[in-house]
Amino acid sequence: MLPLLDPSLFRQQAYINGKWSDAESDKKIAVHNPATGALLGHVPNMNAIETRRAIAASNVAWQGWRSMLAKERSLILRRWQELMLEHCDDLAAIMTAEQGKSLTEARGEIAYAASYLEWFAEEAKRMYGDTIPTSAKGKRILVTKEPIGVCAAITPWNFPSAMIARKVGPALAAGCCMIVKPASLTPFSALALAELAHRAGVPPGVFNVVTGNAAAIGGEITANPLVRKLSFTGSTEVGRQLMRDSANSIKKLSLELGGNAPFIVFDDADLDAAVEGVLTSKYRNSGQTCVCVNRIYVQDGVYDVFTGKLVDAVKKNFKVGNGVEAGVNQGPLINESAVRNVETQIADALAKGARVLVGGQRHALGGNFFEPTVLADVTQDMRFAHEETFGPVAPIFRFKSDTEVVAMANDTDCGLASYFYSRDIGRIWRVAEQLEYGMVGINTGLISTEVAPFGGVKQSGLGREGSKYGVDDYLIVKYWCLAGI
Ligand code: ADP
Repeated sequence: MLPLLDPSLFRQQAYINGKWSDAESDKKIAVHNPATGALLGHVPNMNAIETRRAIAASNVAWQGWRSMLAKERSLILRRWQELMLEHCDDLAAIMTAEQGKSLTEARGEIAYAASYLEWFAEEAKRMYGDTIPTSAKGKRILVTKEPIGVCAAITPWNFPSAMIARKVGPALAAGCCMIVKPASLTPFSALALAELAHRAGVPPGVFNVVTGNAAAIGGEITANPLVRKLSFTGSTEVGRQLMRDSANSIKKLSLELGGNAPFIVFDDADLDAAVEGVLTSKYRNSGQTCVCVNRIYVQDGVYDVFTGKLVDAVKKNFKVGNGVEAGVNQGPLINESAVRNVETQIADALAKGARVLVGGQRHALGGNFFEPTVLADVTQDMRFAHEETFGPVAPIFRFKSDTEVVAMANDTDCGLASYFYSRDIGRIWRVAEQLEYGMVGINTGLISTEVAPFGGVKQSGLGREGSKYGVDDYLIVKYWCLAGI
């Protein structure tokens, strides 16, 4: 058992229509700690039938929820946020146990997740419509915003709490209800959020968590016409499948898919700041975020100095281990196949001429632990250039001109986050415009915040999360033409 101050936050049942529920089949999924392999507990292995029940309950709950005052919904969201912060230590302990990130990072994620509930609690009161100067005498034109209806969210294991909060916050603020299918590797963070939603006064059916078979639950969500919108964060491959499956019912989609973030260091950059940027962006969550730096492009004239500084910093700053231990800031990867993927990419690069400067292999601790790694002489023909790594490996490429590096940076189907370091205002403006990405970090490796729009272009997805734009995906625009005046 996890040592929690409030053990009732650790729930091993799904949450449907305000009730803790088991699967009809009574089947369960086991959840393990990626640092130790220990069994943490079980969650119900639900299928389409329970999902259909949750959707039907949400559809009923929606009528009451949408007709509440915006301020009433706002207050409930605000209470939910406060409860998250109050129980931050327990929520972080649950997250570290099932996901592996250090306790410091887990606490950071809880605060980050809660910030979305706070932001959208505020936005709930500001979903203004419009009046439009009329096109005909005797007529008036109005535009109102209405909740789209029952929404579903399918979320990944790398941010077990924040990826839910940034979807459920705007949905509930807009007056929609939501069914969440969390990743089966990290369901306990989602269920703890459900417990707190219950305590905050979220009415039955407004927020539901269905655990279990991804394909069966996803299949019901995409097929069921009562679900008007699906928001998914995860792999591009699964996103594509969900998009295909949603075609029959023409669902509105938000997709936050894979990234392949370039990080460009120009010769006029502040190199110490750029090293700091790599440390925060590349190695966050042991490299397992979709905005993690994936490719580091360094200009010829500063290549050796930058590389030397980065290697020193990596040696000095990281301690690998179980995320609950003091001082550890690099937890395990999520599972064995994640470790194998990193090994395969490194082997491919070494076979084609790259050099390991630090790390490069599994950590002496064994299990899912991998050494923080830096590779030099990486080139565009290697897998690092085209595949998301999702591990603590910094591959350093070399470039000569601005034109060349922008072409290399854009040479991918992905377009989520990008980063570059320069002090030249002309270059900053030019490069920022030319990068085909939804987000650009300039002289920073840290861009995620609830106040800004997070999302990608190209095959990194559709829609934006957070900020004033984040609520648009949960609203429909209704045009009223009023005649007979
Ligand atoms: P990751 O590589 O981050 O694990 P996935 O796309 O595999 O990304 O998983 C993200 C989420 O999508 C998880 O909740 C997972 O269970 C779910 N998922 C995986 N396959 C399907 C599917 N066929 N239909 C619906 N959801 C799925």
